[in-house]
Amino acid sequence: MKYLQSGGNAMEEPIIVLELEYNQWLDLCTEKFGLQRYRTDQICQWIYQKKVFNIADMTNLSKELREDLVYKLLILPPMLVRQEISKDGTRKFLWQLRDGERIESVLLSHGNHMTACLSSQVGCPLACSFCATGQGGFVRNLSAGEIVGQFLAMEKIAGMDINNIVFMGMGEPFLNQEALFKSIRIFNDPKMRGLGARHMTISTSGIVPGIQALIKLQMPVKLSVSLHATNDELRNKLMPVNRQYPLGALVDALREYQTATGDRITIEYVMIDKVNDLVEQAYELATLLNGLSVYVNLIPYNPVEGRFKRSSAGRIKAFSAVLSEMNIEFEIRREKGSDINAACGQLRRRDGKDAKN
Ligand code: SAH
Ligand code: SF4
Repeated sequence: MKYLQSGGNAMEEPIIVLELEYNQWLDLCTEKFGLQRYRTDQICQWIYQKKVFNIADMTNLSKELREDLVYKLLILPPMLVRQEISKDGTRKFLWQLRDGERIESVLLSHGNHMTACLSSQVGCPLACSFCATGQGGFVRNLSAGEIVGQFLAMEKIAGMDINNIVFMGMGEPFLNQEALFKSIRIFNDPKMRGLGARHMTISTSGIVPGIQALIKLQMPVKLSVSLHATNDELRNKLMPVNRQYPLGALVDALREYQTATGDRITIEYVMIDKVNDLVEQAYELATLLNGLSVYVNLIPYNPVEGRFKRSSAGRIKAFSAVLSEMNIEFEIRREKGSDINAACGQLRRRDGKDAKN
């Protein structure tokens, strides 16, 4: 789409600012727009610090410059379709992207700290049998700007800084590695959002080359792995990705990551009634993780359309007692936002159904 000036000359398409990392932004502003460096930094401050997404409102730029840039730059965070606030303060956002696709983000608060849970894809191709996103199929990858936009829009709506990011929303982050890493650089850059890499966590279903790429990135971004099963037979059924990257290869990659970074790894383990919550499986889990420095999150399963049930408190307790005995550190995650369908993919799914009814 070309924008027409009143005289009828076709103008260049506007540039989507959130897609650019700092060096690209700087090159654009200095080379194409002839701006001085401090100006490019001022605009960054408006966007990434003050969350002002309209060039016309950037009041320390001259009126002429604003009028010029307004046609050349688009900031365009995602559009809010719906927000739901849980009794425990968890907020869930449904966004619409420029092409009409919809994604979700979640904002979790714990004391003064807030954590944003961001989506990396529209849907997910990995089809885990317990996951609403996985059951809904895959549409496309998000761009770096669409990942960054979720975060900035939430900060604007919340009216405060968000301290942590987890890439734990819809999609498999390592299947969208390029945009993921670019968004991390944008979040991290001191001239842009300036969020420490240690405040970002990637959650993966176990994409081995992604874990290896994270080692090479050499930024202290944290790693969380969705394990959910302790042997290949069960994991193949729950998470088809296990056929491509079986547990042996996954654990080897985790060892590689730990040797390279020294960082503790979080293990996510969704507790599903009589499927993966057996006491024998707790021993199997401890054996599998032997030698790794891990922190296990036991997550009560959030039921998605009837197939599985959540483990009872008693079964979770018995499972966790084995982990204690085996000296594995763990936490039984308090469920957040269950009253608003905070498990990934549920809001979009329900919304899709609402729309069809
Ligand atoms: N694809 C990545 C990140 C997004 S999924 C991954 O799998 O890690 C984020 C987390 O939500 C994963 O640990 C996933 O297993 C978990 N999850 C998915 N569906 C769930 C449900 N119904 N109840 C509880 N956790 C769920
Ligand atoms: Fe995809 Fe993660 Fe859901 Fe599996 S759990 S389908 S990898 S989003």
